[in-house]
Amino acid sequence: MSKIRTRFAPSPTGYMHIGNLRTALFEYLIAKHEDGDFILRIEDTDQERLVEGAVDIIYDTLKEVGLTHDEGPDVGGDFGPYVQSERLPMYKKYADELVDLGGAHYCFCGEEEIEKQRKEAESLGISFKYDDPCKHISVEEARERIANGEKYVVRQTIKHSGETYFDDEVYGRIEVDNSILDESVLLKSDGYPTYNFANIIDDHQMGITHVVRGNEYLSSTPKYNLIYQSYGWDIPTYVHVPPVMKDEQHKLSKRNGDASFQDLVKKGYLPQAILNYIALLGWSPETEQEIYTLEELIKVFDIKRISKSPAIFDIDKLTWMNGMYLREMSVEEFYELAKPYIEQSVHRPVDMMAVARILQPRTDVLSTIPESIDFIDELPEYDIAMYVHKKMKTTYEIALKALKAAKEVLSELNDWSNEETLHELLLALPKQMEMKNGQILWPVRTAITGKQFTPGGAIEIAHILGKDETLKRIEVGIAKLEKEVN
Ligand code: GLU
Repeated sequence: MSKIRTRFAPSPTGYMHIGNLRTALFEYLIAKHEDGDFILRIEDTDQERLVEGAVDIIYDTLKEVGLTHDEGPDVGGDFGPYVQSERLPMYKKYADELVDLGGAHYCFCGEEEIEKQRKEAESLGISFKYDDPCKHISVEEARERIANGEKYVVRQTIKHSGETYFDDEVYGRIEVDNSILDESVLLKSDGYPTYNFANIIDDHQMGITHVVRGNEYLSSTPKYNLIYQSYGWDIPTYVHVPPVMKDEQHKLSKRNGDASFQDLVKKGYLPQAILNYIALLGWSPETEQEIYTLEELIKVFDIKRISKSPAIFDIDKLTWMNGMYLREMSVEEFYELAKPYIEQSVHRPVDMMAVARILQPRTDVLSTIPESIDFIDELPEYDIAMYVHKKMKTTYEIALKALKAAKEVLSELNDWSNEETLHELLLALPKQMEMKNGQILWPVRTAITGKQFTPGGAIEIAHILGKDETLKRIEVGIAKLEKEVN
């Protein structure tokens, strides 16, 4: 069997959509599972839709997630150029050949003729399919008109009898009546090919064995196969994948404000976690395992387990997975990633590594960090009702007693550097006072953070804040509670 070759063929139109990245991932996994090649091809034939900088976004994204391509515009290869706009002479040559083979014809119709037919179809309420009068012009006559400078396009010629079918790896056998296939433009008058043509020429010429793409191409694929047949070329294996949805009805789309890969990274999701998550969008492993390295995915990936039904993008699931990734790393690695977010809200000279340590077990997305530790710089205004904790039976009186006791022992502690000492001191209190641990720790944490939820408990946070700040805040708490109790 020949080596498997897949290609990622994005159009450089802006962001990296989640669906696109998933296609790239599936292509990469299919190739690498069999030790094959993964190729990057830039499809820039729709010059009006090009966005500056979009090609760099493609390179950067692939690099960030570790989908290394074996061939492509930036790394070269034996089948280049890998940018479609640099392949125009080749498309022209193949288009002329296809005309000779009877699979296409030259068309001189102006937009008006096409519009006229479109309007007619509309008024009759039938779907539009261009019936091109030019297909009756002989090739010799057409070439003469072209030589005389007439503008033309190359259009596919479809014999309107018979059926075309193929077997898709995901959707199974697809059969269509040739009579419903429209005769699309293959080469435009400016010499640029359309997708309908370029995908065939390039996939064949680049030796692509498996074509993975969105299922919106499923219905055009029979047309493409007719062209393969005209040339006598092998038809690749097709793997059409269902869309990634935002909900039951709507596709995930950047245009509707849904997150792109870049947006998610900006929000503090890890490229590796995103990749892991999207592997499970429309594909399922044989086991319950959900966390995979790219290497593991390569090993277990199986085309047969790609689903036909659309996958819904679930941000909560991604968030959970991201948290799993954050917790799995060493605290030093976590610190490196979290540092810019910590620095957004912490400006006091505290031990940043200690801050990272309290954050790591409780952070799912890095962008939530600044808000979760905003109490470090300054004690926020807080409601005294926060001292009441029903389950721990903490009342204002108990909280006041707890804070006073904590103040007393803490003010005597001079060496604040050791968290263990703080721990022993504070946890000795409940025993002495015949109270529950929570009845001391809850009020202390409330007093020094002013927040209901915090990463880290009273002891860890007191250690980070330092002696002066901790005592100052406990005193604020005592004053507040005294007003209430007396
Ligand atoms: N350029 C096409 C797109 O971005 C590629 C489709 C394909 O993979 O063939 O939709």
